[in-house]
Amino acid sequence: MIDGVKWHLKKKKDDMVKGGEFVIPNGNLPDISTVKELSEEQLLVQKDLRNFMKEKVLSDEAIRRIESKDFGYSMQLMRELASLGYLGVEIPEQYGGLDLGKITSTVVAENIARQGSLACTFLAHTGIATYPILLFGTEKQKKKYLPKLVSGEWMGAYALTEAGAGSDAAAIKAKAVPIEGGNYYLLSGEKIFITNGGFADVFIVFAKINGDDNLHSVFIVEKSFGGIEIGKEEHKMGIVGSSTVPIKLNDVKVPKENMLGKPGNGLKIALNVLNLGRFKLATASLGGARACLESALTHARQRKQFGKYLVEMPVIKGKLAMMTAYVYAMESAVYRTAGLLENSLKEVDSNDQKATLKAIGEFAIECSTVKVFCSEVLDMIIADETVQINGGSGYIIENKATCAARYLLNARINRLFEGTNEVNGQLMFVQLMTKTMRGELPLIKAIQKAQADAMSEPTESETDLVKKLSKSLDGVKSSVLLSGGVFIKNYFPPNLSPEEIKQRIFDHQIIIDHLSRSLISVYVMESALASLNKNRNERDERKVRWLFHQMLNDVERLPKEILAMCSQGDECRTVTAMIRRLMKFEFENKEELASQIVQDLP
Ligand SMILES: Cc1cc2nc3c(=O)[nH]c(=O)nc-3n(C[C@H](O)[C@H](O)[C@H](O)COP(=O)(O)OP(=O)(O)OC[C@H]3O[C@@H](n4cnc5c(N)ncnc54)[C@H](O)[C@@H]3O)c2cc1C
Repeated sequence: MIDGVKWHLKKKKDDMVKGGEFVIPNGNLPDISTVKELSEEQLLVQKDLRNFMKEKVLSDEAIRRIESKDFGYSMQLMRELASLGYLGVEIPEQYGGLDLGKITSTVVAENIARQGSLACTFLAHTGIATYPILLFGTEKQKKKYLPKLVSGEWMGAYALTEAGAGSDAAAIKAKAVPIEGGNYYLLSGEKIFITNGGFADVFIVFAKINGDDNLHSVFIVEKSFGGIEIGKEEHKMGIVGSSTVPIKLNDVKVPKENMLGKPGNGLKIALNVLNLGRFKLATASLGGARACLESALTHARQRKQFGKYLVEMPVIKGKLAMMTAYVYAMESAVYRTAGLLENSLKEVDSNDQKATLKAIGEFAIECSTVKVFCSEVLDMIIADETVQINGGSGYIIENKATCAARYLLNARINRLFEGTNEVNGQLMFVQLMTKTMRGELPLIKAIQKAQADAMSEPTESETDLVKKLSKSLDGVKSSVLLSGGVFIKNYFPPNLSPEEIKQRIFDHQIIIDHLSRSLISVYVMESALASLNKNRNERDERKVRWLFHQMLNDVERLPKEILAMCSQGDECRTVTAMIRRLMKFEFENKEELASQIVQDLP
């Protein structure tokens, strides 16, 4: 039935770990990086930062200063973080950094993220403002700018968005006109929503040379060049202690040696930088989620109603158990991805730009996956339930580190920036298809095997928890592959032109969104299970049982809905029946489990 799916297939290249291959069921759990395997050095970083946050950032007075936009204070904190080395965790030593890799930078980002506004300032500076120079800079550019950004002498900002160009980054109007025989460019245009713009010394500015769409380019622009007009601070719903401003480029004169990469490389730079930016954002969401859980638990243990502490009430236990299970899921997926990126980058010479970009791009699907999952779980579940558990006081904005209302307001932005979650969902599908077409992922074979599995006799049920859940997970993967296979067969026959493919991707965004959400569930559940498999213990087993109960239920409907949207009649009925056979799981006693999970909490 799905044999027609021969979609522009080329040969598979090699047997290396591939980005996106988590979607293929193979009966085994991957060997992943976990937070339980942090080195002594990483644990020291964690301890050091927790002390720093407690002493310098999370006091009522510090929160008051940060949230009232006392940028002098935020700058002081950034410089202190710099003096401890934390602005250069991923930067090679020759440019003043510590070169400690992705896992250590994950530890750093998730701890700083306990204060949303400072986290935003920190992430924009160390992420989207620094990565373009690190990844695309010439040796001269790296030597000139990275040490200043790492030492906190200069603050950085990233200026891509314009009023008419948000998700559609190709639509920017900012112009770079070559002057003086091409030795300089004059930059003009208007950018909006620029994080750190109020105090940045250096801006990564995207502009098109002579307005030519094919020459979308990037420039390192120092504020001291003159001509950058900083607008008023925006009044935001959250992260209010971070700077967000519009900027005007009034014929800013930029030397030609300040172009990053080649003319026309703008979108390539934006996409690659955003891959890593997305991963950092997932890490920050994990930090926010941990802070929420601690705050909700503390309140639930202190507040009494009807003669009982909130934490004794089953429905509150259920919420705390759910939050605990989701934090475990976020942590597992984030550290797994950190490990993938770190290992991938270890394999390449950091001076080899092409190989470095390939190493990062390989895991673009995983970066989008953790960004979407962590930002949504933090905002829609964990921060929201933190407000709920805090009751009316959770709705009041106070200058306290544990202010529930601020957690919720701060969490909202993560679903919007670094590529909205909707755009990330679409990108994931395109990337998966591209990998399949290049022969890098054997998806067609996997779809055929899923078909065979669905028609084979059921095997004996497993007694070991990890094996049992692993089998359920393979059932979900096969169901996603089957429904995705029908979608591709019915809407993407092999003879389509690139324009037709683009149009069909656009027309079927809802199906693609469902597919991406299924993939996200698969990656996250597998990460949690693989994490447990590496460190078997009863506490984590309970979290994983809760998580699978929740997520298997949630994901079950998606492949069926996909089929309802892309198939009819016999085909729809037959594949839906196959999916019913593949997706089987037992219901848990959630009341008992919730009690145990909450009892386990420190
Ligand atoms: C506080 C804050 C800080 C920011 N910091 C920076 C910064 O430092 N530098 C910078 O350059 N930018 C920054 N941004 C901009 C941010 O990245 C954009 O707001 C974001 O990319 C979305 O663009 P937009 O606001 O134009 O929304 P739109 O692109 O207009 O999107 C609106 C809605 O339509 C959906 N949508 C759009 N296109 C598609 C599509 N193809 N398919 C499906 N759905 C789609 C979106 O998902 C969204 O739900 C910041 C924004 C905010 C609010």
